[in-house]
Amino acid sequence: MNFASDNASGASPKVLAALLAANEGSAMPYGADPWTARAEAALSAVFERDCAAFLVPTGTAANALAIAALCPPWGGVFCHHDAHVMDDECGAPEFFSGGAKLIGLPGVRGKISAATFGEALRAYPPGLVKQVQPSVLTLTQATESGTLYGLEEIAELATLAHGAGVKVHMDGARFANALVALDVSPARMSWTAGVDVLSFGATKNGTLCCEAVVFFDRASAADFAYRRKRGGHTLSKGRLLGAQMIAYLEDGHWLDLARHSNAMAMRLAAGLAATPGVRVPLGCEANEVFVIVTRAMDAALRAAGARYYDWGARGLDEVDGLAADEIQLRLVTAFTTTEDEVDQFIAIARAAG
Ligand SMILES: *Cc1c(COP(=O)(O)O)cnc(C)c1O
Repeated sequence: MNFASDNASGASPKVLAALLAANEGSAMPYGADPWTARAEAALSAVFERDCAAFLVPTGTAANALAIAALCPPWGGVFCHHDAHVMDDECGAPEFFSGGAKLIGLPGVRGKISAATFGEALRAYPPGLVKQVQPSVLTLTQATESGTLYGLEEIAELATLAHGAGVKVHMDGARFANALVALDVSPARMSWTAGVDVLSFGATKNGTLCCEAVVFFDRASAADFAYRRKRGGHTLSKGRLLGAQMIAYLEDGHWLDLARHSNAMAMRLAAGLAATPGVRVPLGCEANEVFVIVTRAMDAALRAAGARYYDWGARGLDEVDGLAADEIQLRLVTAFTTTEDEVDQFIAIARAAG
């Protein structure tokens, strides 16, 4: 019962098999191999557009390098105040951009509203020399609260951003989970809604260590190869990244993995919501469930070996706060989560209720 994160799982067997197959023979290094070329072409096909795609081994590298590519060192980067770029990347976006400033915005359910973003743009007018210059809006899909931006919400924010000369980045660490939940095409959840550059996550949903930075406008990717190499994220055995991405995308494998993961989260959320003493205030939109349980349930679950994070009061702005004997847990399901694990977890919570 490991619900700590979706990266507690290993890689999908199909991805591992592809890695072993790609391990045979020799290939040119640094991405000049046929696997990398095929992976790039596969991403353009998935997004129904000629994209410039760059494979990197971590999501932090994808986010930090993508933001740096969109932003001068004196730029301002608008993000939700609970965003991964803000809280979980050890200053990488600031470092790789040469000192750009992250501007954390409030927002219920993990989302930035158009009103809040509009206010932030007014607080950072271009040309005011004592302040950073408005440069990037970064949205997380699915959000750090497990919620989803609808297509119209993305488009509205992107229109505001572009009107102010601000580029739009999407942190898609859980892009696949959001996509299958909204049941839309990758194009519609990205560039047609106004996203300029996407961190296309894959590791949490089945690769061993492979993500992509996808530029929907080739011209803005002109320097990215140098930026990635200079930042130490150009793998010499690039074919092993390419092989992972090809296997991940082939035959809709990535979508199948995400559908399973989301279904397990829904099962978990439904079972817990029907358990006396448990609250699921944010519901379940993709593959994360935030539940408020009693401390007795928490103790029983931990004693039974369940793993998850204590989420404090994050994301609860609009919800009744935590009572003294309550605790909020973040539960994340993955492509490896089983119905048995989910049912066992629910049964333990019930018994302790
Ligand atoms: C996991 C995650 C990432 C990527 O993290 P790495 O550990 O660097 O691969 C980025 N954004 C979000 C929202 C995440 O959850």
